[in-house]
Formats: sequence, structure tokens, C-alpha cells
Amino acid sequence: MHCPFCRHPDSRVIDSRTSDDGLAIRRRRQCPECGRRFSTTETASLTVIKRSGVVEPFSREKVVSGVRKACQGRPVTDADLALLAQQVEESVRSTGVAQLDANDIGLAILPHLRDLDEIAYLRFASVYQAFENLADFEGAIAELRTHPGAASQGSAPAGAGGRSGA
Ligand SMILES: [Zn+2]
Repeated sequence: MHCPFCRHPDSRVIDSRTSDDGLAIRRRRQCPECGRRFSTTETASLTVIKRSGVVEPFSREKVVSGVRKACQGRPVTDADLALLAQQVEESVRSTGVAQLDANDIGLAILPHLRDLDEIAYLRFASVYQAFENLADFEGAIAELRTHPGAASQGSAPAGAGGRSGA
């Protein structure tokens, strides 16, 4: 995406949000060259096939509501959840696939949730992957120990890029 101000051939997405009907996505971009910000709107072609067989547009809100339960009592803010949903959307979109199973969304959520909060991750994984016993938890915990998430790095303040603009 060219910068409309200086025509720099690259830009950085600083925020993206889905329209209420879920059919379009609006991105805030910033030019790394001149620092100016601009918006683009894209039509979303990303749909999700639910387990019931119903096809619906990908929804960040559904990602948030699906993960929120697992985050109860954890130090996870609404801004964290919004960022997580954004990351999930970006990772599923980056696969270039236009239609996903609900299952694929769950898979895409797991690594981002793990970076956010390991307890919430375990809760979500236990439901999503249908843990049946302690051994399943032990396996997941062993995996976490072997490949720790990014939680220890601390998370960047969400929305910091959008505060002074707009
Ligand atoms: Zn520019």
C-alpha cells in the first residue's frame, strides 16, 4: 500500500477493525517514511464454517467472546483481548484462505493466547482440545515449559499507536 502523501511504497498497519456487519475491514496505516497516517477499507472475504455447518463472516467479537471465559480472573484487559482478536484475524488472513473451519480459528487463537496468559491458555486449550484427564494438562504444561510463551516479555500497551492520531 503506497503512502498517499509521499508515495513511499510501504506502510505499516497500526490498527484494523471489522465493520459491524463483518463484511469490511478498515485499517489505519502509518507511513514509515513521512509518519503520516491514512485509512484503507477492504472487503472481507473471510468466512467461517461453524460446527453446525452454518457459514458466517469471520468476527473478532466472536474470538473475544470465545476467549473471555478462559480469561476470567486473569490479568487480561479488554484491550488485550481486542489485540488478541486482531492478531488472530491477521494470522488467519495471512494464510490466504478465504474460508475456515471454526476449528482453524481455535488453532489460530492458541499461540496468541499463550503469549497473553498461560493460565487462560490452559483453560482454553482444555476446552478446545477436549482435555480428558490430568495427563492432558500435564502434557500441555510440559509443552509450555519446553517452549515458554512471550508472557515474560510483557505486552506492549495496546492502542498506543492510535492515541495521538485520528
Ligand atoms: Zn509517506
